[in-house]
Amino acid sequence: MSEYRFATKAVHAGLEPEPTYGGVVPPIHQASTYVQKAVGDFVEDFDYSRSANPTRAALERAIGELEGGFGSCFSSGMAAEHALITAVCDAGDHVVIPDDLYGGTFRLVDKVLKRWGLEYTMVDQTNLDLVSASIRPETKLVWVETPTNPTLKVIDVPGIVERAGGAFVAVDNTFATPVYQRPLELGADAVVHSATKYLGGHSDSVSGAVVVKDEERHKAVRFVQNSIGAVPGPLDCFLVHRGLRTLHLRMAAHTENARVVSEWLSEVEGVTDVRWPGFSGMVSFRHPDAVALVSRTKVFSLAESLGGVESLIEVPQAMTHGSVEGSAAAVPADLVRLSCGVEAAEDLVADLEQALKS
Ligand SMILES: *Cc1c(COP(=O)(O)O)cnc(C)c1O
Repeated sequence: MSEYRFATKAVHAGLEPEPTYGGVVPPIHQASTYVQKAVGDFVEDFDYSRSANPTRAALERAIGELEGGFGSCFSSGMAAEHALITAVCDAGDHVVIPDDLYGGTFRLVDKVLKRWGLEYTMVDQTNLDLVSASIRPETKLVWVETPTNPTLKVIDVPGIVERAGGAFVAVDNTFATPVYQRPLELGADAVVHSATKYLGGHSDSVSGAVVVKDEERHKAVRFVQNSIGAVPGPLDCFLVHRGLRTLHLRMAAHTENARVVSEWLSEVEGVTDVRWPGFSGMVSFRHPDAVALVSRTKVFSLAESLGGVESLIEVPQAMTHGSVEGSAAAVPADLVRLSCGVEAAEDLVADLEQALKS
């Protein structure tokens, strides 16, 4: 598929017609195990569904193709992050993480992996000199999130790769998606996704993915995947794969709606610090009445998460980012985050207008 353009890959990646009946979409292989004709005589690596499952394998091939590397899928974005970090780092190693990041990533590093001997430094990765200064001889991994969550800063991935001192560079590509940013092509070693968000795109599944450039590293990630066992079920893989096939169309619609909403917001009195990275559907702004206004919207549902076809609104400090309170990544209480869906832009603007007026 590598010779085709992105839209063609998105529609076809990972899919072969079902061999027995020719179904254009392969069936959901809802099976935990596979019959062996004789001991050790089974198809490819399909001996048990924690190790491998055809529906998952199709999704893994697809995400790998879209990001340009070797894909593995997990039961959540956090499980994907855990697998990658533990495949790359040992106790005593040091990692560099951003000072504005998904709260769960901070919690995993600070509350779980630190207890197992992983050390970390948080830096503002928009300042590459600070990144250089944070690198130690034992730095194994530089973790990048771009755009950052929730303040939507865009990080220079090739710049980070240059300053990483040979450390492994992993990029959380959840907000940008491979439609707008393919970190492996920018020199990074790995990409992580919460497939729960834009890749799945319909708010009906929790899942995650890791894509790495190097085949040996891929084996290490798969080893953790099988050893820890945080694998997605076949139905979830099917749902995410179906979502992937319209990723390029949805992202264009999310981007257009976020552009209209952010331009409108920047003219509204009382609204400050409107941020939109110029692509994707995420917008943030500050407003003194943040907590009250998010419960007045009707088209934007008040909910955590993002990246689905429906618009969502939230207050990060009180909702998604509780785990970074008191750290360098703490967010202001008056910050509102929008995930602009694919509804009519006029309806999104009208909804925000009535919520801001009341
Ligand atoms: C949601 C999210 C995660 C975690 O993914 P889950 O699927 O919820 O486990 C990681 N990174 C970013 C940027 C996210 O938005």
